[in-house]
Amino acid sequence: MSMKETLHQQVIERQQELVQLVSGLLRIPSENPDGEQLTVIRFVEDYLKASGISYERVAVNPDHPCVLAKMGSDEGFSIILNGHVDVVPAGNRSGWKFDPFCGDVVDGKIRGRGASDMKAGVAGLLFTMRLLQQSGAKLGGNIRLHIVSDEETTGIYGTSWLCANGYADGGDACLVAEPTSFDNIEIGQKGICHLKLIARGIPAHGSIGNYVGDNAIIKLAKVLIHIDDLTKVPGHFEASQAKALENSLYIAKQALGERGQNAIDHLTANVGLISGGTKINMVPDYCEAVVDMRLPIGIKKEEIQAAVEELIAKSGVEGVEAELAFKAEANHTDYDAAIVKAVHGHAEKIWNATVRPAYQWASSDAKYYRELGIPTIQFGPANLAGIHGYNEDVDVEDVVHSAEIYMLTFCDLLGIE
Ligand SMILES: [Zn+2]
Repeated sequence: MSMKETLHQQVIERQQELVQLVSGLLRIPSENPDGEQLTVIRFVEDYLKASGISYERVAVNPDHPCVLAKMGSDEGFSIILNGHVDVVPAGNRSGWKFDPFCGDVVDGKIRGRGASDMKAGVAGLLFTMRLLQQSGAKLGGNIRLHIVSDEETTGIYGTSWLCANGYADGGDACLVAEPTSFDNIEIGQKGICHLKLIARGIPAHGSIGNYVGDNAIIKLAKVLIHIDDLTKVPGHFEASQAKALENSLYIAKQALGERGQNAIDHLTANVGLISGGTKINMVPDYCEAVVDMRLPIGIKKEEIQAAVEELIAKSGVEGVEAELAFKAEANHTDYDAAIVKAVHGHAEKIWNATVRPAYQWASSDAKYYRELGIPTIQFGPANLAGIHGYNEDVDVEDVVHSAEIYMLTFCDLLGIE
């Protein structure tokens, strides 16, 4: 048997170890915010140590450290693996049918907060690295592991910090093991822009507010009722992006219905926050709303600006101010990048199903690696239903298949035959 076949076989034969690793991670409550991350970080370090893999802890914030590990040579193809070990809080326990930190296995599912987002993915990365290390296989390059513990809040002590401080330099490919479910591979995301709309009025006594003063809340409301107009602004895709776009529209249609496809290739705009007024018996002289806009690939800032101006003009309200704060550009990885091809090919074979490389409507840490020009994908085991909700779990089959796909992909990219 070839080394590649042997390694693949080991993932299958030793899958019980992988399941135990997922359970072990789930039993450590690493809620963020309100929990602590040091126990789970130490758990990861102990696993690496027991695997004979060298690692270091780097922490710009000691409460949210990162663990970095490396195996292989300094030369050759360099793969970065990324995962976070913090989880969103379990929330109200009465919403759970089981202890959110039990990590038990029932009916082929591993259960607990973080099972899908994303301790199963992290376990898959750690486990495949251990098997590679123990096999003694010669790597035609290296694997660098980035484990972070600050993804679910701001992320500033995690991936964005690592990328900004040179830790991802020289990467030739990056795999983020965030949950996707097996039938799609995330190869692009929308950008983010926050739009603040401000209306100013003239205060007066509330008892005669219909006759005197100028109500800022009413003024802003007249603008906000047209907010859906912003969803008409399209992205602009290249010919080479046609297949990924087609896949993305298909996935969005399955998940969000016919109209929901629009969320992929057009602007979306959610009025998420509003505040205004001082007192019930005063005509408010100030109101502001913040709109979370998600930007499709290829959209230009001037197009967004023009659409916002048009929105305000349509309301007929004079003097409404608009401030645009661009947070992230839309980003993507080429469909024919080596890591996309490898994961795509192995996933279709192992699942015997169609797997679609596609663009997402949401955003994640993948963007930081893409900003450095590193071909980056997200692919990880998941049951999407419980993520950030109650009763989170993940299928054992999905966890094992993901690890098989990771292993075969690493073998391809690092020349292990
Ligand atoms: Zn996540």
